[in-house]
Amino acid sequence: MFEKILIANRGEIALRIQRACRELGIRTVVVYSVADTEAKYVKLADESVCIGPPPAAQSYLNIPAIISAAEVTDAEAIHPGYGFLSENADFAEKVEASGFVFIGPRPENIRLMGDKVSAKQAMLKAGVPCVPGSEGALPEDPKEVVRIARRIGYPVIIKAAGGGGGRGMRVVHTEAALLNAVSLTRSEAQAAFANASVYLEKFLENPRHIEIQVLADEHRNAVFLGERDCSMQRRHQKVIEEAPAPELAAKLRDRIGERCAEACRKIGYRGAGTFEFLYQDSEFYFIEMNTRIQVEHPVTEMVTGIDLVQEQIRIAAGEKLHLRQKDIEIRGHAVECRINAEDPYRFTPSPGRITSYHPPGGPGIRVDSHIYAGYTVPPYYDSMVGKVIAYGASREQAIRRMRIALSEMVVQGIKTNIPLHLELLHDSRFLRGGTSIHYLEQKLAEERNKPH
Ligand code: ADP
Repeated sequence: MFEKILIANRGEIALRIQRACRELGIRTVVVYSVADTEAKYVKLADESVCIGPPPAAQSYLNIPAIISAAEVTDAEAIHPGYGFLSENADFAEKVEASGFVFIGPRPENIRLMGDKVSAKQAMLKAGVPCVPGSEGALPEDPKEVVRIARRIGYPVIIKAAGGGGGRGMRVVHTEAALLNAVSLTRSEAQAAFANASVYLEKFLENPRHIEIQVLADEHRNAVFLGERDCSMQRRHQKVIEEAPAPELAAKLRDRIGERCAEACRKIGYRGAGTFEFLYQDSEFYFIEMNTRIQVEHPVTEMVTGIDLVQEQIRIAAGEKLHLRQKDIEIRGHAVECRINAEDPYRFTPSPGRITSYHPPGGPGIRVDSHIYAGYTVPPYYDSMVGKVIAYGASREQAIRRMRIALSEMVVQGIKTNIPLHLELLHDSRFLRGGTSIHYLEQKLAEERNKPH
């Protein structure tokens, strides 16, 4: 096992990884930007290294600075967390070329999955069902593009091969709008991801977002740890996640889970990963794979009792998976609410100083957050300041506990989306379970149009 790990991230996930290391008896190095100097987890780490000014491009995305920090502190491995460099194959390669272990998949697997066109092709080959669409990237010839869209049938969604974080997508309902939308998405994709390649997919009108968590080791062993339902989304960004997915037959779940585990064995995948699917009319359609730990991993930890970050570290150290599929049991239900520093209805970011803070607690409540009273949320990064996770024997109990937790929780000085969560936790459609990915947007649009 490693003696020292460098954490190349910030915020709640930097703290989460630190806690996993501590439990394993591993010392930690945290890198931080000038904006995060005062962060609690920076002081809690065994060592810390400032890697640059606040803008992420000069600090959390600064590969040479991060590798130098690992060199001067004698760290053996680097955990990238999520976001930032976590899915950057060049970073993973440089980490390994510099003699450190990258806590994640092999660079070639990151590259394969980082391009959504090659990811889909690999999944089709491995027997994972995908959304019907163009075979690979769209050609230049407009006539050919029109033909492909006709074959798929409208509405279609244009997606950037290099897209991520809910960006680089456009829905098209009619042939008249197609070519213009394709060229717009191409130029946006070129600007945002330096890759103008786009592809077409059938736009599913009523799907749920259901994803499968996997763990695989270097020795081609792979297991799946059930599923998560992340259908509560705004602008393709997840707001509430839960495990297991309400009303999903165990047989369907096991069948798709086994396909994912088999795909991992086939491509030689290593580490934790998530296969994201749209689910409609009892069918799963692969949309992408995330080759890293995800924000919503705690709901899986709560229902399986398995620490995913510790598993990532063990796998990176070369250990064989000690879990077998038959040992993995899903018990109870867990719900996660992402707490964002933002206006709960206008969604504008709300950075600033937290003047008072009372975190919730009690049976089944887990809070993954780095904030405290007196902490200043910097304006430079993602607005998520933490996650509240509620566990219960049933979905009803988990939701009831979440309502109590969020009604106890006080964060003053900044705005948060807690009021929106409390409203959703009383929403009759959410309570029934199984809402589609478009539900939250529709609900918000209706409320906006209501006379006041
Ligand atoms: P990203 O990498 O940006 O997260 P994804 O491919 O995972 O992009 O898609 C993000 C979200 O966009 C999905 O959860 C879903 O809400 C929506 N989406 C993507 N593809 C489709 C599709 N074919 N039909 C309907 N919605 C889609």
